[in-house]
Amino acid sequence: MHCLEVERVVPASLPDPHPRPRQGLGAGCSTSGPLPPPPPLHYDALFLGTGHNALVAQAYLSRAGLRTLAIDRAAAPGGGLRTIGNPRLPGFIHHPHSFFHRGITQMPWFHDLELARHGVRYLQPELNVAMHLRDGRALEWWTDLDRTVASFAQFAPKDADALRRWTGEFRPIVERILIPESQCPPLAPARRTELLARSRLGRRLLEVSALSPLEFVTRHFEHDAVRAGLLFFNGLREIDLRLPGFGHAIPALLAAPGKAQMCVGGSGRLADGLLAAIAEHGGEIRCDIDLRSILLRHGRAAGIELETGEILTADCVVSGLNPQQTFLDYLPADAVPADVRAQAARFDYNLLAPLFALNVALAEPPRWSAAAQRPELSQALMTIVGLERFGQFHDIVAAHERGGIPPTVAWGSCPTVFDPSQAPAGKHVAFLWEKLPYALRGDPTHWDAECEAHGRRLLAHWTEFAPNLAGSVLDVYARSPLDTERTLPNMARGDLLVGSFAHGQIGAHRPFPGAGHYRTPVPGLYLCGGSTHPGGNVTGLGGYNAARVLVADAGKKIWWTPPDIESALAALD
Ligand SMILES: Cc1cc2nc3c(=O)[nH]c(=O)nc-3n(C[C@H](O)[C@H](O)[C@H](O)COP(=O)(O)OP(=O)(O)OC[C@H]3O[C@@H](n4cnc5c(N)ncnc54)[C@H](O)[C@@H]3O)c2cc1C
Repeated sequence: MHCLEVERVVPASLPDPHPRPRQGLGAGCSTSGPLPPPPPLHYDALFLGTGHNALVAQAYLSRAGLRTLAIDRAAAPGGGLRTIGNPRLPGFIHHPHSFFHRGITQMPWFHDLELARHGVRYLQPELNVAMHLRDGRALEWWTDLDRTVASFAQFAPKDADALRRWTGEFRPIVERILIPESQCPPLAPARRTELLARSRLGRRLLEVSALSPLEFVTRHFEHDAVRAGLLFFNGLREIDLRLPGFGHAIPALLAAPGKAQMCVGGSGRLADGLLAAIAEHGGEIRCDIDLRSILLRHGRAAGIELETGEILTADCVVSGLNPQQTFLDYLPADAVPADVRAQAARFDYNLLAPLFALNVALAEPPRWSAAAQRPELSQALMTIVGLERFGQFHDIVAAHERGGIPPTVAWGSCPTVFDPSQAPAGKHVAFLWEKLPYALRGDPTHWDAECEAHGRRLLAHWTEFAPNLAGSVLDVYARSPLDTERTLPNMARGDLLVGSFAHGQIGAHRPFPGAGHYRTPVPGLYLCGGSTHPGGNVTGLGGYNAARVLVADAGKKIWWTPPDIESALAALD
């Protein structure tokens, strides 16, 4: 078992990484003596990090006519979208980070930024998720509701009815409330409640929200495996399932029109499309950059200093990093009010979000035992193995709390079943992910000694469900939650959602009160990453919403048509 370095290749479509100053900043000077140091480069907006949210925001700003630059410490842009080429086996592409992208082609920015024209293509396999049980059965989520209901009915007809009922009831709530909310800067909580309380749909949402996801599932579904599947697939990734206030999360995911999709050529192709959209309007990217600090002038963010001493000035700085990096690491202590520093320091990370990942290059795809009876199972985009009982949720939480490894529940995919371009002809790549604690036995550095051994255990678990793996693995490498944090330090504690979804850290309070509208308490400093509303995962909506605020503050025309949340909620029946 080996470790791979994340791709160190900058796409050819990127602009010159060392652009010349624009006219007026020293252009045309002639001198006979030693050259004076060049004046700092000036931008309308400087982005910290090239995660997809920053790239989305940068693309909107560039097209609005603003001069933009995004910098990144990594060798290649794209953050959690980047794929890696296997250096030992050329032609095999692996996903060290995101793979399942929910409803990307329905996102407003996908269309506004013309990403299809920039070559981005997505697939949405009809069998979206299959949860294999040891008795050979599988609980299935299809893009077609009737087929999902039929699968649930094989386990429990009452649960199948409940699934259809909740999906139908929540569809208008998702389409008319939750989607517009995710695509707008958030309302103040009191105003939101006031507007929701005026309509039947809004009141129903508030009523269901009052439960915890755990209560929602136990109250409305009966079968042990169905409950386990709903909690795991529809909930475990995003939120603390024990918290009241998030009961709507599971029916909302069931009813969401956006299903899991995968990017043709690998997730990195989405980053490439965004980079092309940025480059088309003159936006610039620089990678392999070590940031020293955010610079202020008269109390306003006015640029950045790099570790090389180079200074870049800007009308505003937009951070795609987490609040600790932004407010504590890169701003001088005396530039930030003490209460803001304290709030940034308190910003918290998800206990259950960190992933352990096993990536394999294969001579043939995993042949699932369960597919012998049901061949469709070999066409599932996501396969879950090891999840059988509702009670396993408590085992997983307890293990994370004590820093131990719970009995294996894992999920993954074989991308090359759908997109052969991700491996040489006839060969395959696949991965399996498992939720494991960041601080293993109380200390994340324990992962350095444990990573390979745990990878072998996970491969053995996988082989129980797909026995042909025993003879078809060409190469294997594992990544621990600590590797995630090392590669993407904004995902502190390996939290791939860049901050927990808990009260005090959602909506207008994400990342903390006073910084929840993409503007921050430091004038000229903005946020746009996963630690802003609506949160982590590949949604691009933090960047989409930030773009609206940034373009308005720059006095430029908002060239696209974003939704208006006040009027969307006021129009509810
Ligand atoms: C193993 C794994 C699997 C995942 N699977 C999925 C999935 O299937 N579906 C899904 O939707 N999401 C998934 N995610 C989560 C998803 O990748 C993130 O939520 C998402 O990438 C966050 O986007 P972002 O815009 O906040 O920035 P990020 O993608 O986190 O990018 C941040 C960027 O900032 C840069 N940076 C960090 N620190 C500095 C610094 N000090 N100076 C300069 N640059 C810096 C980084 O190099 C990076 O390029 C997964 C994550 C992991 C780790």
